[in-house]
Amino acid sequence: MTDTAQVAGVPAAPSPGAGVLAAFEAATGFMPVDEGLALYAAAVEAAQRTGLPLLEVGSYCGRSTILLADAARQAGTLALTVDHHRGSEEQQPGWEYHDASLVDPEVGLMDTLPRFRRTLHAAGLEPYVIALVGRSPQVAAVWGAPLGLVFVDGGHTDEHATADYEGWVPHLAPGGVLVVHDVFPDPADGGQAPYRIYLRALAEGFTEVSVHGSLRVLRRD
Ligand code: SAH
Ligand code: MG
Repeated sequence: MTDTAQVAGVPAAPSPGAGVLAAFEAATGFMPVDEGLALYAAAVEAAQRTGLPLLEVGSYCGRSTILLADAARQAGTLALTVDHHRGSEEQQPGWEYHDASLVDPEVGLMDTLPRFRRTLHAAGLEPYVIALVGRSPQVAAVWGAPLGLVFVDGGHTDEHATADYEGWVPHLAPGGVLVVHDVFPDPADGGQAPYRIYLRALAEGFTEVSVHGSLRVLRRD
């Protein structure tokens, strides 16, 4: 937990129970703890207010999914998470974020689905998750139900980030929350594609709810 003092009269942001937090911290992935807690708070708020499912693009090994699943569980809804499980560009062999333990030796390609499933099972959160295995734009194109939250944490090229935004934002219910990860206004800190969809969201009527590191929480009424 952070050492932020609680302001009198202001309810503390919801935080996950010890077991969920431990499972999140132990999981393989790319979500820092402080940003994860901000994602969790946004997910609890969106799930409880809208009662609608929460959707993630970029399941990877289930690290952030744990938080969305626990938020969904509390609100009596579900977390949906989309990934082809073959890894992003920067996770392929020879690239900076490659993890050789995630290659399926029989197929010779990345396969993060087995670890994803073990992680959600061990956290006791499997009943609150629907894993959609496929390419995000293709799943979005056949999706038909309103969503309370869309969390964009998939491919970091402009092609992928733009397709995630254009594919999923139309499914967001009025009052729904859009969360974008890896937003770096300064190119020295990281790629610009998530930053560009964040700017586009602001230009298209979303307002900023909170900022935590590279995590941006937006809402459109
Ligand atoms: N949220 C995760 C990290 C996600 S990493 C965590 O908390 O650790 C990004 C993931 O996006 C990778 O698993 C990759 O396979 C997936 N991805 C990239 N482009 C995609 C696309 N077009 N469709 C589906 N998944 C995609
Ligand atoms: Mg990320």
